[in-house]
Amino acid sequence: MIVVGAGPVGMTAAAALAHAGLPVTVVEANPEPRPDWRASTFHAATMELLEDIDITERMRAEGLTVPRYQFRDRRDGLIAEFDLSLLGAETRYPYRLQLNQQRLVRFLFDRLRADDRVELRFGARVTGVADTGDGVEVTARTDGGTDGGIDGGGEARLRGSYLIGADGAASAVRKLSGVAFEGVTYRERFLIVSTTVDLREQLPGIADVNYVADPVEWLFILHTPEAWRVLWPVPAEVSDEEATTPEEIQRHLRAVAPLPGGYPIVDRQIYRVHQRVAESFRVGRVLLVGDAAHVNSPIGGVGLNSGIHDAFDLTRRLARIARDGADPDAELDTFDAHRRRVALEYVQADTERNTQRLRETDPERRRASHRELRALAADPDRARAWLRRVSLLESARRFGIGTPPPETLLTNQGASR
Ligand SMILES: Cc1cc2nc3c(=O)[nH]c(=O)nc-3n(C[C@H](O)[C@H](O)[C@H](O)COP(=O)(O)OP(=O)(O)OC[C@H]3O[C@@H](n4cnc5c(N)ncnc54)[C@H](O)[C@@H]3O)c2cc1C
Repeated sequence: MIVVGAGPVGMTAAAALAHAGLPVTVVEANPEPRPDWRASTFHAATMELLEDIDITERMRAEGLTVPRYQFRDRRDGLIAEFDLSLLGAETRYPYRLQLNQQRLVRFLFDRLRADDRVELRFGARVTGVADTGDGVEVTARTDGGTDGGIDGGGEARLRGSYLIGADGAASAVRKLSGVAFEGVTYRERFLIVSTTVDLREQLPGIADVNYVADPVEWLFILHTPEAWRVLWPVPAEVSDEEATTPEEIQRHLRAVAPLPGGYPIVDRQIYRVHQRVAESFRVGRVLLVGDAAHVNSPIGGVGLNSGIHDAFDLTRRLARIARDGADPDAELDTFDAHRRRVALEYVQADTERNTQRLRETDPERRRASHRELRALAADPDRARAWLRRVSLLESARRFGIGTPPPETLLTNQGASR
């Protein structure tokens, strides 16, 4: 099997295939794993899944365990606090684990490098994809690189039984397969800035994760092992250069909490935010997972998590097809149907609602939103149901991750052949 993209989702898929005893080739354009911080939240359902490939304990050892998070208003202060310990009867991980995504990338890379069922081809950019009926053929431009790159560069052709496109939001696999990526791009971009200053000292009473509503400039403030990170929206009319000057960054942070001498900055990223879902996650033997299949606002921290769920769902099915002779169409159509529904009905719906709640400008709707959150947090049963949903436990339990296809699908497909 071939995985295109050695981001967190592609490498999770490769590790799960290798763990199931299947040989896998990973093709990655970069000469080495990407070191960007990007996402930094892991939810309960994801921690459970990562147990399959023995990654969870390493993450727990390095990550920050955060059971409580707050919803605040920049003008009115604390609105509601949610306690994930309410999920204690259902999961071993009743909290969010805060850990920058490059740590997971590093754990996975170490794992794959040490596994002789895995061939890593870094420095190889995929430029062609063909489904040959009984397999897939991939063309890649190589420029040398480490771990399998071809010195001097050239073109490589690889063959496999299935192709997993995990090559991110601008996925070449998706485009080469002719799959549309419907949705919208937000007018504003998001800027996330990381500082080593302990923001709990500047903002007493905040939690390690805080969503802060404001009609002018909402915020997302979160703590990771390396730093505190503050995210705010950058209006469309402000350029990247203007938004990221040291003076401008300090001005924004000082408005969050004054600090004589200013904030030391250890990382910053500005990026465009899209809400998009591929029209199909399957074209024959080509399957899409992670950002290649769906992208969303980071508010709620579910994009990368749901990508990891895609990877486990798909690889459990591919293992059944390869090892147990399971019906490929029934399995892969179920992957497509389930994961697309989760992307639309949970990930897109919730991240859009979460972002809108923060940026709401209508005073009456803002007050109503705050009332709703206070009522939710005050009722343990409703709060538990809400937390099951936001931690992706609900979607994982409802659809299952990689569970066998329903009888109807097997019967219908058997009858149509
Ligand atoms: C700047 C930025 C900040 C972000 N911040 C947050 C955040 O704060 N919170 C949050 O929840 N999410 C955030 N995200 C989203 C999160 O990082 C993604 O959901 C996550 O990285 C998806 O993982 P992936 O493995 O699907 O894709 P990626 O991490 O994008 O990995 C794709 C891999 O495929 C490779 N590739 C691409 N094209 C080819 C090709 N043609 N051939 C071979 N390889 C190829 C790339 O080099 C890359 O290594 C952020 C994203 C960006 C861009």
